[in-house]
Formats: sequence, C-alpha cells, structure tokens
Amino acid sequence: MKKVDIKSMTLPRLEAYCIQQGLPKFRAGQIFGWLHQKGAASFEEMSSLPAELRKRLSESCEIPSIAIRRKLVSKIDGTIKYLYEFADGQTVESVLMQYRHGYSLCISTQVGCRMGCRFCASTLLGLERSLTPAEMLGEVYMAGKDSGQKISSVVLMGIGEPLDNFENVMDFLEILSSPQGINLSLRHVSLSTCGLVDGIYRLMERKLQLTLSISLHAPNDEIRSRTMPVNNKYPMDELLSACRDYFRQTGRRISFEYALIEGVNDTPSCAQQLCRKLEGLSAHVNLIPVNPVKERNFQRSSRERVRQFQKILEQHHINATVRRELGSDINAACGQLRRDDKGGKSC
Ligand code: SAH
Repeated sequence: MKKVDIKSMTLPRLEAYCIQQGLPKFRAGQIFGWLHQKGAASFEEMSSLPAELRKRLSESCEIPSIAIRRKLVSKIDGTIKYLYEFADGQTVESVLMQYRHGYSLCISTQVGCRMGCRFCASTLLGLERSLTPAEMLGEVYMAGKDSGQKISSVVLMGIGEPLDNFENVMDFLEILSSPQGINLSLRHVSLSTCGLVDGIYRLMERKLQLTLSISLHAPNDEIRSRTMPVNNKYPMDELLSACRDYFRQTGRRISFEYALIEGVNDTPSCAQQLCRKLEGLSAHVNLIPVNPVKERNFQRSSRERVRQFQKILEQHHINATVRRELGSDINAACGQLRRDDKGGKSC
C-alpha cells in the first residue's frame, strides 16, 4: 500500500487525518510541529509521541526525503546554489541570496516546465512533474539548515510555473506561513508567473498577502508571442486586464519582470509601448539583462540600453529597478545547473 505523504498536509488536513485514524486531535499539532518547526526527517525523532504511535505512523505514512546533490558557493557575493535530489532521483535548484534585510531563497515549484519561454533554460527539457508541498518545504528547510541562516523571504522564481501547480503551491504557502510551522509571513513571499490568467483569478480569490510578479518581457503581442508561447493562449490585454482586477481586488501592487534581450525587446519604442500598457497599474518593473542560454541564440542588452530603457519608464512615472546580479560566477540563473547535471551545457 502506498504510504501517505504526511509532510504535505496542512494542519486542518492533518487534524482530519488523525481523527479519521482514531487519534486525538492534539496529536496533529504535535506531529505538525515536529515536521515543520523541528524539521524531523523520521518518526523515530518524534520523542513526545508514544513509541507505538511512532511505529504505526512509520508503517502508514512517509516523510519525503530531500538531499543536497550539489552545492555551489559564489566567491563574489556568497550566493549559494543548491541542486536538490528527491526520492525518485529528480532534481531541482534553489538559490540562497543575501540582501541587506536578510536571506532570500528562490525555490523551484516543478521539475522542468512546460511553458516554453524561448529565453529560459528550465523549459528546454519540458516538464517532468510538479513538486509536492513537502518537496517545496524541503527546499526551504534544507537551505536554512545547511546554511545556518534564517530565511526571511521566499520567491517562487526557480524552475517551473507555480500557477501550473496551483493546489500544491497553495498548500505549501499555507504550511510555510503557519504559526505552528516556521511562520514565514506571506508578505515576505513573491510568486512569479508567466501569465496564466485563469490561475491569476484563482489566486485573487485566496486574497493572500504575497507579492504577485508577472513575467512580461515584452511590450506587445507580436514580440511576446514570439518569445513566450503562453501569450498565444492569454494575450497581453487579457493578462493586463486580469492584473488590473487583481490589483483592484487585493490592493496589492504587482511587479513586472522584464528581461532585456538585445535587439528583441529593448528599444526606446518598446519602452514607450510598455509605459502605455502599464498605465493605471501603479506597477513596479524589474529590469533584468537577460542571461544567455547556450542553446538559444540571443544576447543581453548593453548597460547603456538598460539605463536608457529604465529612464524612459521613470519619465512616465513607472517605478523601475535594474536587478542586481548575484552569483554570476555560479550560473545562478534558474534551470542551468540542473541542465549541466543532466549532461547538457549552458553558459
Ligand atoms: N514560471 C514562472 C517562474 C519561474 S521563471 C515565471 O515565468 O515567472 C523566473 C523568472 O526568470 C521569470 O521572470 C523568467 O521569465 C525569468 N527568466 C527565465 N530565463 C531567463 C533568462 N535567461 N534571463 C533572465 N531571466 C530569465
């Protein structure tokens, strides 16, 4: 019989499970604390539970494992990149970055990705499978344990499309922010999407405190459809209208990611079109010189081009920052380490 993944259960679900198993409800709180506050990797460690219950749990439940397969530390800024391995041998990446306000961890939500963005290394091998809540939590807990640092923010910007793994990501966020767990406020969480409009509406209904980030990367449908196939399903006007609804409903400002690719989306005319598209959204734009991926033929925009682009946005009163590059010596861009490990090469 397949064992139940107990670490993926939210507290209410674990309570229901305990009751169903004829256990008192308070056992759920104890088990949850062991898993999510004390980081127990086995039932054996749960010393406040009776030995017989520990044995029973280990027969019917599992605590999914996660191991560090590779770890790279940047000599420039201390950024750490982890390649994690799960029980079935699948691997994903997380990146731990130090900022002035603390440590931020960028996590993966799927093994691979099926969104097909042309500039992204994570999608080259397609989607293998989605991650469970326990696996995403494992990325966070393991990075904290290995580095000895308190993780103060989490960004869902690693491999995968979080809104393509909606229910698991929601459960992950509920457990992550639970006061009986590590209690990380969703105000310190960002979720990045390539623009799955149905997912944005579903997320809106949850009224979460997190920051929604949209990977826009283009000022019009022609360029966006060329670089991001998702745009054929959800064109820009539909996406931006969902963003307006989201902002209106939740009162939370949306961030837009814009990776600048030389000669593709970085001209002054592109910047002006973008300003018109973002009107009324009180948007924040994050400009990122694109990371070259060997399999794809594109270059990052020059520093002057990036500055010029930023200036045009600012002239239109759109808040625009150029993302500081961290871990440039360890291939910190998402998807590249996993590719290398599987025998591919990227730069
Ligand atoms: N699927 C989600 C989250 C994962 S990608 C999304 O699309 O938002 C995280 C971010 O990295 C996205 O903004 C993505 O567009 C960007 N990205 C992917 N490849 C990149 C590259 N080569 N250079 C710069 N940014 C890249």
